[in-house]
Amino acid sequence: MDHNFAKEKVADTVSSYKITRIREDFPILSTMVHGRDLVYLDNASSAQKPRQVIDRITEAYTMSYSNVHRGLHFMSEKATEDYESARDSVRAFLGASSNAEIIFTRNATEAINLVASSWGRTNLRVGDEVLITYMEHHSNIVPWQMLRDEKGFVLKALKPKKDGTFDVDSFKTLLTDRTKLVSVCHVSNVLGTVVPVFEVTKLAHDVGALVLLDGSQAVPHISVDVQNIGCDFYCFTGHKLYGPSGIGVLYGKENVLEAMPPYQGGGNMISSVSIEMSKWADLPSKFESGTPAIVQAIGLAAAIDYMNDIGLDSIAKYEQELLNYATRMLDLVEGLTIIGRAYDKGPIATFVLDCVHPHDIAMIIDQQGVAVRAGNHCAQPLMDLYKVSATTRASFAMYNTFEEIDMFVDALKVVRRMFA
Ligand SMILES: *Cc1c(COP(=O)(O)O)cnc(C)c1O
Repeated sequence: MDHNFAKEKVADTVSSYKITRIREDFPILSTMVHGRDLVYLDNASSAQKPRQVIDRITEAYTMSYSNVHRGLHFMSEKATEDYESARDSVRAFLGASSNAEIIFTRNATEAINLVASSWGRTNLRVGDEVLITYMEHHSNIVPWQMLRDEKGFVLKALKPKKDGTFDVDSFKTLLTDRTKLVSVCHVSNVLGTVVPVFEVTKLAHDVGALVLLDGSQAVPHISVDVQNIGCDFYCFTGHKLYGPSGIGVLYGKENVLEAMPPYQGGGNMISSVSIEMSKWADLPSKFESGTPAIVQAIGLAAAIDYMNDIGLDSIAKYEQELLNYATRMLDLVEGLTIIGRAYDKGPIATFVLDCVHPHDIAMIIDQQGVAVRAGNHCAQPLMDLYKVSATTRASFAMYNTFEEIDMFVDALKVVRRMFA
């Protein structure tokens, strides 16, 4: 009954959405797991790849592979062109004004470490403050702790409201004229909370702080325009955006990046080298030392093209319907508590189930082919805040279906009965 009712309600959004065609684009979705259809609900850990991305990677290795930026031969020129054209796709995707502002990194973690090591080490000192939140991924906590121990600034963390909402009032009280950097996620990987990044950026700029946004969980679900937001840095990781692993992006405002020293030294990031000294290359090469993840960048651009073909707004609307439906269904499971109920949420449902350890849940429903994440989600401070050691997380992507949510919730009910 509930199922049909929900189906009717979402009919408009869903009927125009080409879910069958989209699912056919993702070869892994037709795999069987333990003799069951794979129900992949671990997208916030890493998303699956469409054939268009896999084919583009194969094509790059088959037709136009070489190192970039150095050869004077056909293949090198072709590979360089493809790599730089991938940068152009990312620039357009983020709404940045220039390709000089797009740095390819290994992942989001490396992007944040780049900012900490380069901008942070140059600009932060005793008396300064860096403001993060309790809902950061470890990758936006640990680099700041390491630098704090070296530099002696103060690292502050904002708590979310009990329901997971970003607390703007507390944020205002934590901001001071000593705050030099606000580094927060755009969307929480545990609570799903969408941070009001426009307001956060404006308030931070009012006290003279720079703003770094970790968009790892935002870009797969929300269309982003960094110029509109006004943030100084924005980063994300490719493998959560239907692209390959080993590639991430750091956006930085050109004048900010220009003033920063290199992160790592080596080839490609220099304009000249003698034994006595070296001169740095222009942006973005200054921050891309060594041979980059050439084909991964090209694959990432193919993922962006793929998303644009489907339409970022269609994906966002469809995923919101999935989230609403999953939330309603999970609320009907006895003993289940959802953690994170912000009004504005990405498609992530994190929960605990009375008397059942999250690891048991994940292992038992895996037998039904359902893949979810159980653990601390690289967010131990948040687990401590909510007084849980671990949670189970189902996270949705453009290719998930309402039927899959039914299978997942049915599997949960079986777990519930086993332990009741
Ligand atoms: C996954 C994730 C990261 C880290 O991504 P890596 O690919 O491991 O570098 C950072 N922040 C958030 C919010 C994430 O979800």
